[in-house]
Amino acid sequence: MSDGANVQAPTIVGGATTSIQDAWARLGLNAGAPSDLTASATGVLVINLAQIADNWRALAELVKPSVCAAVVKADAYGLGAQRVIPALYGAGCRVFFVATLDEAIEARTLTGEKATIFMLDGVMPGAAKDVAAVNVWPVLSTLSEVHDWGHQAGDRKTPLPCALHVDTGLTRLGLTSLDVREIAANSHLLDRLDVRLIMSHLACADDPHHFKNEQQREVFEDLRPLLPTKALSLAASDGLMLGRQFHYAMVRPGYALYGGQAFQGGLAPVATAVSAYARVLQVREAGPPHTVGYSATYAVPEKTKIATIAAGYADGVIRSASSTMREDGGRAVINGEAVPFAGRVSMDLVTLDVGMLETPPVRGDLVELIGPNLSLEAVGAAAGTIGYEILTSLGRRFHRVYVDTDNGVAG
Ligand SMILES: *Cc1c(COP(=O)(O)O)cnc(C)c1O
Repeated sequence: MSDGANVQAPTIVGGATTSIQDAWARLGLNAGAPSDLTASATGVLVINLAQIADNWRALAELVKPSVCAAVVKADAYGLGAQRVIPALYGAGCRVFFVATLDEAIEARTLTGEKATIFMLDGVMPGAAKDVAAVNVWPVLSTLSEVHDWGHQAGDRKTPLPCALHVDTGLTRLGLTSLDVREIAANSHLLDRLDVRLIMSHLACADDPHHFKNEQQREVFEDLRPLLPTKALSLAASDGLMLGRQFHYAMVRPGYALYGGQAFQGGLAPVATAVSAYARVLQVREAGPPHTVGYSATYAVPEKTKIATIAAGYADGVIRSASSTMREDGGRAVINGEAVPFAGRVSMDLVTLDVGMLETPPVRGDLVELIGPNLSLEAVGAAAGTIGYEILTSLGRRFHRVYVDTDNGVAG
């Protein structure tokens, strides 16, 4: 019967195209197109360094007199540590958290010697000498690391700075209360450690009503008299929204600095600092019995137009945002109007059903994937995940534009 030969090929719409400059201008970003935005750009990631700096200042103000650190692990959540760390340093931030030694070395290079850099993954077996050599402070989460760091201090004949991470209920990383008691009882070991911070991490801070928040805080309070410093830290982006009793000496936000709003109990005083756009490669007419994309999951419900854009799962458009109907899956925004993904997200491409738009996009236009109309949270939810994963998945093919004044482009 229907062998495909009867299916008329969809027509490609019009010959209109737009340049990257015009496409950029049409976004109305209040910033001229940067000179290095080349005609061949297939996607643009706009990272607002001024906003990231403002976000840090707003959080620092909120938690005063506690210290506000900045978590810049994973290349500043994918946004580029090379640009983000100096912007935060310029805003006044002097304490940075990274995960690995490579990240710590990069952060040290970018900040000079005045900043404090904590390394969350701690000291890998055999790596104590390398860590001590670069003047970064490891966060020690196991007894074996504590002993390694103590030995290193012994070799160097000077106590070595570090943080101790105690587990209060996340059951992920951290010393158990038994470990803490063992360390507290070992004065020889304690003499070799210059413990600058005791920290723990909350499991359910996004939910202000969750019993675990207070429970973990109580465990933290119980361990505190055993440990050799008054400098404590418990809260990340969400935890700092739980109130002053969670702030202690230092808070450690990451996600909120970049504009993320994961906290369920209200809005953090931050604004979105990242937007992602992909360009339209083709617009075509389609109607029943056409299907769109791999595995033919999207049966075109009526005469419509399909726009294909130059971003896919290799760029961080998570494949689980694929759609079988207009109501499910991901969304893009064109001229302020949301349009649904049509069919499977593929490696380099997403197809959009743009039939409902009065003015369909043209080849070369920029389509919003994350930004003023599509929050990280909304994009994450549409893909069955969280904004954090969206942020840290954004690929290297986007041309990156850093904005570092309120309406200027830094290139
Ligand atoms: C990643 C991380 C943070 C930052 O968390 P956000 O939710 O991004 O603010 C803070 N502390 C620890 C231990 C972390 O692993």
